[in-house]
Amino acid sequence: MLRWAEVHLDRLLHNYSEIKKLSKKKKIFAVVKANAYGHGSVEVSKFLEKNSDVYGFAVATFEEGVELREAGIEREILVMASHLEEGYREAVDYNLIPVIFDFEDLKLVKELGIPFHIKVDTGMGRLGFLEDDRERLILELDGSNVEGVMSHFSSADEDKEFTQKQFEKFLFLARRIAQLKPDIKVHIDNSAAVPEKFDSILTHCRVGLALYGSKPYEGYSADLRQVMEVKAKVISVKELPADFPVSYSKTYRTSKREKVAVISFGYADGLLRTLSNRGEVLINGIRCPIRGRVCMDMTVVSVEKVDVKKGDTALISGEELTFNEIAEKAGTISYEIMCDISPRVKRIYYEGVQSLRV
Ligand SMILES: *Cc1c(COP(=O)(O)O)cnc(C)c1O
Repeated sequence: MLRWAEVHLDRLLHNYSEIKKLSKKKKIFAVVKANAYGHGSVEVSKFLEKNSDVYGFAVATFEEGVELREAGIEREILVMASHLEEGYREAVDYNLIPVIFDFEDLKLVKELGIPFHIKVDTGMGRLGFLEDDRERLILELDGSNVEGVMSHFSSADEDKEFTQKQFEKFLFLARRIAQLKPDIKVHIDNSAAVPEKFDSILTHCRVGLALYGSKPYEGYSADLRQVMEVKAKVISVKELPADFPVSYSKTYRTSKREKVAVISFGYADGLLRTLSNRGEVLINGIRCPIRGRVCMDMTVVSVEKVDVKKGDTALISGEELTFNEIAEKAGTISYEIMCDISPRVKRIYYEGVQSLRV
C-alpha cells in the first residue's frame, strides 16, 4: 500500500469522553457529516454507537443519513443542511429528523407528521428563521411534532462577546418554544462553544471537530488526540546535483547537492498544492521540507538530515504534525485539511493502541 490513513478509534473515544466532561449534562450529537470529516461516517458512527452513550448523529444531507441507517445505525439522525423536498421520502422511510428553517418546509413537515427540529438564525446569516419570523413561527409550531430548536454560532472560536449575543437571542426564542413543548431539545453548541457556561436550558450539543482531535482554538480546555494519522511510502530517494530544478515550473532549484525523496502522496490525496515549498512531512521522526510544487500523485521532499530509503514511511499528518499545524501553513482551517484527504487514501481502523507495521 502506497498511501493510507490510520483512524484510531480509541483516540476518538478518548476525545468523546473529554467532550463529555466539558459538556456537563448536555447530550451529544456526534457530527459525522462529510464522511465524518474524512474519517469514515459509517465506521465512526458504529463505533460510537457501540462504545459510548452518544445521543445521536448529525449529518448534512439525507443521503448521508440513509447511508448510516443502511449500515445499521439506530440512534437519532439529524439532517442539518438539506431541505425537505430533497429528502422527505428518506426522512419518512429511514426515520431521519430534518432541520426545518423556512415556512415552506414547515408546512410540508407538518403534513408528513414526522418529528423535526427548527433552526433559528441568531447571527450566522445562513440557515434559519429570523427574529421577524418569530411570532408566526410560534403560532405555526403549536400542535406540531417539533422536537427540537437549534441555532448555530458563527464565531465561537474567536469572539465570545458575539457568541454571547447570539446565545441571548436564541435563549429568548427557545424559552418561548419550551413553553409550548416542555420537553423540547435545545442545542446551539459546536465544539468551540461546548466549554462555555451558558444557561441550563441547553439539553444537547453538536460536536464534530473536537471529536476528531483538533482544538477549535489555542488553549481549548480539553486534552484531545488527533484521530487520523495519514501516511505514505517513499518511492524514490536520490541525490540531485547542484543547481537542479525540482518539480513543475521549476519553483525550487538546489543550491548544492541535495538528497531528496519522492513521497507517493499529492494534491489528489489531499496535500494542498499551496503547501508547495512551504509544507513538511515527517520521515523517521525528522521534518522534511517540501521542495517545489506538490504534484497530483507525488511530492518531493528534502531528506538531507534523514536516514531514509525507498519503502520507508512518511507521515503526512498525525499527532506529531497536526492538521491544525498544516492548516495554519496553508492559510486554512483543520476542517478543510481533514475533508480533503481523498477516497484514494485507504482508511484503516484501529480500536486498540497498535499501529500498522510497514
Ligand atoms: C458542522 C456543524 C457543527 C459541528 O461543528 P464543529 O465545529 O465541527 O464542532 C455543528 N452544528 C452545525 C449546524 C454544523 O453545520
